[in-house]
Amino acid sequence: MKAAILSVGTELLFGQITNTNTVYLSQQLNMLGFDVMYHYTVGDNPERVADMMNLAFEDCDMVLTTGGLGPTQDDLTKEVACKVLGDQLVMMDDVWEEITRYFRTLGRELTENNKKQAIMPSRATVFHNDAGTAPGFALEKDGKYIVCMPGPPREMTRMFEKSVLPFLQKLSEEVIYYRLIRTFGLGESSMETDLLDLIDNQTDPTLATYAKEGECSLRIASKRKTKEEAKRAVDEMLEQVKERIGKYIYSCDDEELVQVVCKKLMDQNLTISSAESCTGGLFAAALTDVPGISQCFQRGLVTYSNEAKMEELGVRKETLDKYGAVSEETALEMVEGLKKVSGSDVCISVTGVAGPDGGTEEKPVGLVYIGFLYGDKKLCKKVRMRNINRKWNRHYSLLSMLDVINKNL
Ligand code: ATP
Ligand code: MG
Repeated sequence: MKAAILSVGTELLFGQITNTNTVYLSQQLNMLGFDVMYHYTVGDNPERVADMMNLAFEDCDMVLTTGGLGPTQDDLTKEVACKVLGDQLVMMDDVWEEITRYFRTLGRELTENNKKQAIMPSRATVFHNDAGTAPGFALEKDGKYIVCMPGPPREMTRMFEKSVLPFLQKLSEEVIYYRLIRTFGLGESSMETDLLDLIDNQTDPTLATYAKEGECSLRIASKRKTKEEAKRAVDEMLEQVKERIGKYIYSCDDEELVQVVCKKLMDQNLTISSAESCTGGLFAAALTDVPGISQCFQRGLVTYSNEAKMEELGVRKETLDKYGAVSEETALEMVEGLKKVSGSDVCISVTGVAGPDGGTEEKPVGLVYIGFLYGDKKLCKKVRMRNINRKWNRHYSLLSMLDVINKNL
C-alpha cells in the first residue's frame, strides 16, 4: 500500500518545532510494509490541507495526518477529511461521554468548544486518545483512506501503537523486516565498493548505506508475506555482507559503539579507567551515559597540560621534550601511569591535535595517539583523520578510542 504523511500545523512551517511525528510514522509504516511516498507539511489552512490530500491520492491509497484535531478554531483536519472523502460530521455520544469523563477525572471545566472534539465523520473508525482529549479516526472511501491523529507526539505515538497499528496491520498484505548494520573505520564509498555487486543485483533484500558522524551504516531490508520469510532473507544476505566487511562491523542491531563496548566490559566483569587529553572528558562522559557502567568505570582523568600528564600520570619530562605531548611515547607513558594509579583491568589514553591551530607539518591537526593496556596487551594506535573541525576531531577521537577497546577485548 502506498502512503503519504501529512503534517498539519503552521508552527511546523515557522520552524518552531521539529517534525518528529513524520520520522516516527515513516519508520513505523515502513516496518509494516507500506511504501511511504511523500512527506507533506502544511499550515492550518483548510484549502491547502485539502489540496495536499487530493494530490496525495493521485497515486497513494492512504494519507496519514497529525495535528489539527484539537478543539480550537484553527483545528480543522476533521472537516477537511470529510470534504475529501465525502462524509459529514456528526455528534458521537460515546465519544462525548468519554471526553466528559476525562475532564471530570482531571477536575477541569469543560468549555463549549470541547464539544467540537466529539463530532466525528459519520463513517469513521474512531481511535481513543489515552493521553489527551482529541480522538483520532480512520475514514475510507473506494479504497482510499485518511487516518487522522493528534499533533502532540506523546498522544500520537500512544494512539498509533494501541489503535492505528492494529488497524493498519489488517490492511497490509506484506511485512518488512530489516537490520541495521553499524560499522566503524570504513567510509561510505569504500563500503559501497566492497558491496557493489550485491547492491547492483538487489531486488529483495535491498541494501542501503548511510553515513553518519564518522560511522557508516548499512540497512538490509526484505519485504515478504511473513516476518519469518523476510527475516530469513535478511540474515542470509547478512552472512554475505559479513564475508566482505565483517571486520568493520560492530553491531548488527543498530547499537551505538559505546553501548557495545560497555556491554563487553560488563559481561567480562572488567574495570576501566581513562586518561584524556584532546577529548577533555568526552570518553568519560560517553561511558557514564550508559546505565550500569559504575560496576566497570573507575576513574576518568583529564590531563590536558604537560604538568598534569607529569604529575598525575608520571609522564617523564624528557619524553615530552623529546617527542612532544602528541606522540606514541607520551600516549604509552600516559596509559602506563594510569595503570599504576588506577589498577584498572583496562586502561586507555588519548593525546592529539584537535585544532584548528597548533598543527605542524610533522604533527598536523587531526593526528591522534591512543594508548591501550589490558593484561599483557599494550599498544598505541595512531589515527590520522580528515581534519573537518575541532568538534568533529574530538568526536572521531572518542570513536577511535571505543574502537580500540572493542577490537581488543
Ligand atoms: P491539541 O488538542 O493539543 O490542539 P492537535 O491535534 O490540534 O492537538 P496541533 O494543535 O496541531 O495538534 O499540535 C499540538 C502540538 O503538538 C504542537 O504545538 C506541537 O508541539 C506538537 N506537534 C504537532 N505536530 C507535530 C509534529 N509533526 N511533530 C512534532 N510535534 C508536533
Ligand atoms: Mg490544536
